[in-house]
Parts: sequence; structure tokens; C-alpha cells
Amino acid sequence: MGETRHTRVLIIGSGPAGYTAAVYAARAMLNPILVQGIQPGGQLTITTEVENWPGDTHVMGPDLMVRMQAHAEAMGAEVISDHIAALDLSRRPFSAEADSGTTYTADAVILATGAQAKWLGLPSEEQFKGFGVSACATCDGFFYRGKKVVVIGGGNTAVEEALFLTNFASHVTLIHRRDRLRAEKIMQDRLFKHPKITVLWHHEVTEVLGNDSPRSVTAVRARNVNTGAATDIPCDGVFVAIGHAPASELVRDQLELHNGGYVRVEPGSTRTTIPGVFAAGDLTDHIYRQAVTSAGMGCMAALDAEKFLSGH
Ligand code: FAD
Ligand code: NAP
Repeated sequence: MGETRHTRVLIIGSGPAGYTAAVYAARAMLNPILVQGIQPGGQLTITTEVENWPGDTHVMGPDLMVRMQAHAEAMGAEVISDHIAALDLSRRPFSAEADSGTTYTADAVILATGAQAKWLGLPSEEQFKGFGVSACATCDGFFYRGKKVVVIGGGNTAVEEALFLTNFASHVTLIHRRDRLRAEKIMQDRLFKHPKITVLWHHEVTEVLGNDSPRSVTAVRARNVNTGAATDIPCDGVFVAIGHAPASELVRDQLELHNGGYVRVEPGSTRTTIPGVFAAGDLTDHIYRQAVTSAGMGCMAALDAEKFLSGH
């Protein structure tokens, strides 16, 4: 059996939300422990340039996350390379079992386990990820000024991304597997009226086509789901917008979730349905999903945790 360690605040996750919570909790003298998970640094470690982190016109995602970790540690947070396999929020102190065998008990828990974009699962999609294939128009749209792009999906995200991309791209093709969108009607109206957007119904993308050197996208191959006929659609960028999966498995049966698995927090706070358990970042956010908003929520979570602990 592994050791048991107690902390006042356990932070689960090492993206912008987790590290910001750690900075604030450490500065509040709460001696937080942060468990990084299997993706130390979170989603920004799988991107290249970030151009919307205030204070840095250009910063590489992985570098930014190394700096955030260093900042959290410099303030006194203990950052541990481990993964939480199970969390029990039914008793106090709360308890978390890590893969290493260590059990962490905590008076307050900050959940910052993020969300992961869903992908099509094609080998060619994997090959061009970061080289023309993206799941974040806000992050990467800027690189497609005057170029043709394709957006895949039929929900609010896909429609929002298609509309947003018209700010840069010369043309946007939205590819959807059915003939009806899930997106809100008002969004659909905007999409259909937009002169730069074409919708390709009843099609699914079967392959991303491109060059090896330099690695770049030239087209997508789409199959008509009714006839099976394949069409190549020339483009420079492919935005996969088929939904996000919040990493809420640890708390699925313990906290109230909404919008397809996001942890519900009280509006204007990071308080979940269990007092002493706070949630921040993409785990709770199906709308903004940005580093800076996640960091902001991380700050809120630490302040909420501090207030909770001072009352107990
Ligand atoms: P995440 O960054 O998702 O981090 C989650 C953390 O939780 C990870 O460290 C993971 O290891 C940990 N974790 C999960 N489960 C467990 C567990 N069981 N135990 C322990 N730890 C666990 N946003 C921008 O603002 N600008 C950009 O330019 C930008 N570019 C992006 C590019 C890409 C390719 C992607 C995918 C996203 C991009 N984003 C960008 C979005 C941004 O990365 C996210 O909004 C942000 O990272 C969310 O932060 P977070 O802290 O909530 O979670
Ligand atoms: P979503 O509503 O789940 O829509 C996902 C879309 O992707 C669906 O149209 C689905 O097709 C399609 N899809 C799924 N898997 C696919 C695959 N393998 N291949 C091709 N297409 C696939 O996801 P979302 O758009 O990200 O929205 C998630 C939640 O966030 C929703 O509740 C949404 O309302 C909310 N949201 C709100 C806002 C806003 O309020 N402004 C913005 C963004 C998101 P089918 O339709 O055929 O299933």
C-alpha cells in the first residue's frame, strides 16, 4: 500500500486553470498539492504559437506551460507528476487515489482536468494536426488569411467557427454528415446568409490530403453518405468541430454535470454542487474554452477555496 498525504487544497490538472489556482492558493499559504495528470501542462502543450495570451505577442504553448509550472512552484505549490485514478467526494476529508499508489486527502479540491476536442480518428488527420488540421478556430484562424478552409461538424461550435473563420479566410466550406444542423436557428441563419460560406450536406470527411515537405494540407476527401461518391475539396486548413469531451469521468456520479458532461458551477463562482469542491477551466466551460478564461477561473477557484477553508 502507498503512502497517504494530507493537503488543505488538492488541485487536479496542470493546464492554465490548475497552475493559476496553484499560484493563488500558494500565495494564500494553503500549501497546495497539484497533480499534473498524463498531459503535464494541458492542451497548450499540443499547439505551437499562442498569440492571444496577454503580455506575449508570440509564445509557444509548451514554453508558456513550463513557465506557469515554474511560477506555481516558485510561489510554494508542490507539483507532482501523477494521475488521479479515483476521487471520493462523499466523505471529508475528500480522498483521491493516484496511479502511483499514493492517496491524497484534502479539505478542499479544485478540479481543473480540462476538456479534449473530439477528432475524426483518421490517420491523415493525425499526420496534419498542427500543420493545417486544427480544432480551435479562435487559436489558429489567424493563420488562414485569404485562404480556403473547411469546417467539419453541425453543432454550435462548427457554425461559430465557420462564421469566425470568415474574418480571415477567402472561403469556408462547412461539411456536415446530415442535412440538418444542431446549431441554434439564429446561428444557422447567419451561416446560410454568409456570402463566404458554402454548406456541403450529407458528407463525411474520409481523408485529409496534403504535402509532406513542407507539411501542409491541400484538400479533404469527402464521401457522400447516401451515394458513396467521393469528392476532393481543395483547402489550406481543416477545422474539426465535432464536439468537446470534458474530462469529468472522476466526478461523473458525484457532481451535477450539464451540456454533455461539463461540471456545473454556481454562476459567477467555481462552486460545484458539493461544498469544498471547486471546478475551473474547460472542465466547466462549454463556451469560451480559452487559456486566459481557464486561468481566470483557476484564480477564482483558489479564492473560493480559501474562503471556504477560512470558514471551516
Ligand atoms: P487543460 O489545458 O485541458 O488541462 C487539463 C489538465 O488536467 C491536464 O494537465 C491533464 O493532464 C489534467 N488531468 C486530466 N485528468 C486528470 C486526472 N485524472 N488526474 C490528474 N490530472 C488530470 N486557447 C487559447 O487561449 N489560445 C490558443 O492559442 C489556444 N490554442 C489551442 C490549440 C490547441 C491545439 C488546443 C487543443 C487548444 C487550444 N486552446 C487555446 C485552448 C486552451 O488550450 C484551453 O482552453 C486550456 O488549455 C484549458 O485549460 P484547462 O486548465 O482548463 O485544461
Ligand atoms: P455538438 O452539439 O455535440 O455537435 C457536434 C456536431 O458534430 C454534430 O452536428 C454531430 O453530427 C457532428 N459530429 C459528431 N461526431 C462526428 C463525426 N465523427 N464525424 C462527423 N461529424 C460528427 O457539439 P458542439 O457544437 O461542440 O456543442 C457542444 C455543446 O456546447 C452544445 O451544448 C452547444 O450548444 C454548446 N455550445 C454553445 C455555444 C454557444 O452558446 N454560443 C457555442 C458552442 C457550443 P450530428 O448532428 O449528425 O450528430
